[in-house]
Amino acid sequence: MTLKQTRNETPLYIKVHPNDNVAIIVNEGGLPKGTVFSCGLELTNHVPQGHKVALIDLNQGAAIIRYGEVIGHAVQTIVKGSWIDESLVQLPTPPRLEELSIASNVPALLPPLEGYTFEGYRNANGSVGTKNILGITTSVQCVAGVMEYTVKKIKAELLPKYPNVEDVVALTHTYGCGVAINAPDAIIPIRTIQNLAQNPNFGGELMVVGLGCEKLNPERLVPEGDSGKIISLQEHHGFIPMVKSIMEMAEARLDRLNRRKRITSPASDLVVGLQCGGSDAFSGVTANPAVGYAADLLVRAGATVMFSEVTEVRDAVHLLTPRASSEEVGRALIREMKWYDDYLQNGQSDRSANPSPGNKKGGLANVVEKSLGSIVKSGTSPIVGVLSPGERTAEKGLIFAATPASDFVCGTLQLASGINLQVFTTGRGTPYGLAVAPVIKVSTRNSLAEQWHDLIDLNAGRIATGEATIEEIGWEIFHLILDVASGRKKTWADHWGLYNDLALFNPAPVT
Ligand code: CA
Repeated sequence: MTLKQTRNETPLYIKVHPNDNVAIIVNEGGLPKGTVFSCGLELTNHVPQGHKVALIDLNQGAAIIRYGEVIGHAVQTIVKGSWIDESLVQLPTPPRLEELSIASNVPALLPPLEGYTFEGYRNANGSVGTKNILGITTSVQCVAGVMEYTVKKIKAELLPKYPNVEDVVALTHTYGCGVAINAPDAIIPIRTIQNLAQNPNFGGELMVVGLGCEKLNPERLVPEGDSGKIISLQEHHGFIPMVKSIMEMAEARLDRLNRRKRITSPASDLVVGLQCGGSDAFSGVTANPAVGYAADLLVRAGATVMFSEVTEVRDAVHLLTPRASSEEVGRALIREMKWYDDYLQNGQSDRSANPSPGNKKGGLANVVEKSLGSIVKSGTSPIVGVLSPGERTAEKGLIFAATPASDFVCGTLQLASGINLQVFTTGRGTPYGLAVAPVIKVSTRNSLAEQWHDLIDLNAGRIATGEATIEEIGWEIFHLILDVASGRKKTWADHWGLYNDLALFNPAPVT
């Protein structure tokens, strides 16, 4: 990365790769026409912060290069020093899935990182929680109102008696009734609900509240079909008895959860999900590379790291399949890309539906540029596994867990895949949070970290201004993960109790 000058007041741009013919403007508020950089480059018009400036004259049709990759072609002649807004960038075709090179450049494993631990709640199945929560599974949306009423009552009347339990969460959702339960793709929402209940932060204490006539039979949500773990509202005589039986079943579980203690666990017991939301052009040069560095540290420490968001990986997949640890893993990665290509095509949509207007305002011209900045989160480790949406794994190392890019859908699916903590990078800013697992929010820009000082947990914007290196912020993220996983530090989302709804991914028909 070439950093032009180091103080924020002086004109500053970032060129990521030596071959790039564009760079992004660092200065807050952008830079006016006539600005001259130390290299002699002069701006021919105003360029907003995070947006691209042409470093050379580009003829119509010329490749526009960022991250050393083609992010598009010039719609018209673009002169050196001018702003390249998204209307000047023609979207290139995505990498052809049939022509990808697989496992051709598998990175060598980095040296193991020993001695790092956190204080977690060990479960019978070997997984480790970073929180101690009672999770109540539901089989259908019809019970959501009863659950809201009852959880409020549990929190007020029971939870204070069990101080070692942090929270009670009803796993409510819009699924269960009016759905084509046997459609092939229905397996995705069904296994998501099944696997959510197995999240390490619930301590293996399962209970299910159902209605009694739903298509998603509650027995399907209990591994052994154990009806002793199911409450069916239609079997109750009136509302008060329903509330009473849910509270009784909950209390038995609270009692057991309350006896759990945090014990020192190796960092290899962490299962960390990575996500971005509200990305901007800085995401790929500050927060995501620092998270990528932290991801490498986690993999070196033996942990599991999951990255996701198919539409933000698709256009950079040619850089990922060579990193697959085997032909089988590479094929699985391509299978997930193909599934999503077909899914978008069936919906008569295409990848230009991403990025969002906010992403564009932040300087991202198209999904190719967004993807190149997004995959940097995965670090440099070999990709050792691929999960279909909502699947679980006990595998260690770097995993691609296929999900949509939508923040809450990705968050819900990663929880089902077993994450016990998530790291979330944001450039535009979002107060996103998950009730089930801590979410560490990393800002891509200094100005966002200042503006949202009580929402952003860590500021990677210091990389753009030269105040910190990628490695330094990477280590800060790694240490913050250990502190948050141990309950020593609280994320801002946990401090304020800011939690998004669970949002299932249901590609199957609703009837
Ligand atoms: Ca996202």
